[in-house]
Amino acid sequence: MNTSTTTSGLVIAIDGPAASGKSSTARAVAGRLGYRHLDSGSFYRALTLAALQRGIPVDRWPLLTHEELDSLHVDAVPADGSFLVRVDGQDVSEAIRGADVNAHVSLMAAVPAVRGWLLEILRETGRNGGLVADGRDIGTVVFPDADLKIFLISDPEVRARRRLLQQGAHPDGETLRQETERLAARDHLDQTRSIAPLVPAADAITLDTSDLSFEEQVSAVVELSRVREP
Ligand code: C5P
Repeated sequence: MNTSTTTSGLVIAIDGPAASGKSSTARAVAGRLGYRHLDSGSFYRALTLAALQRGIPVDRWPLLTHEELDSLHVDAVPADGSFLVRVDGQDVSEAIRGADVNAHVSLMAAVPAVRGWLLEILRETGRNGGLVADGRDIGTVVFPDADLKIFLISDPEVRARRRLLQQGAHPDGETLRQETERLAARDHLDQTRSIAPLVPAADAITLDTSDLSFEEQVSAVVELSRVREP
């Protein structure tokens, strides 16, 4: 897959827990810098969706072979400053945000063969620079030589509230509690898996966004990137 389009610029890695605002921040930073945005989680989500649609039992996922992963027909094409992730050539941007994918994606992402299968595809997107990539292991595994590494954190309840508002749901007591628990469960799986766990890279800058507006967090990353420009 030829996914590299920009020919210069930095590679910026933004990692962090679920609903920490990585993707929206990365997209906005990429827009401000004229870079491309890579939402690496969307690939894990698309693989999860495809496996669920094909009825592959979850307990078989750890045994998936390279050929079986190929046969899920997940790919991505550059589009609108980002990458459109597809299953069977179809745009799955909305379908990969459903509750069933949310509940299963961390199981798919913990499978070593899945991470191995995706690694080169993800790396190819930053081959020529000019990329803001977000995920869980971008600064540690995918782009260990990234020019700038940010680790975004924020209070779990703040994250749950933002996520519910994004979904158009009312973040009241019980709904908020349940969403906070769901995010915590996903973070726990991502932090404790044996392969590429969610941890800040040693040279990452941690940015706590609990008390920052969206504009403030985007500007903070843009400012840091200006300092790294050659
Ligand atoms: O970022 P998002 O919440 O869409 O990611 C969905 C899931 O994909 C994460 O919970 C994690 O299990 C997995 N993921 C990952 N490594 C990445 C990006 C996402 O393991 N670089």
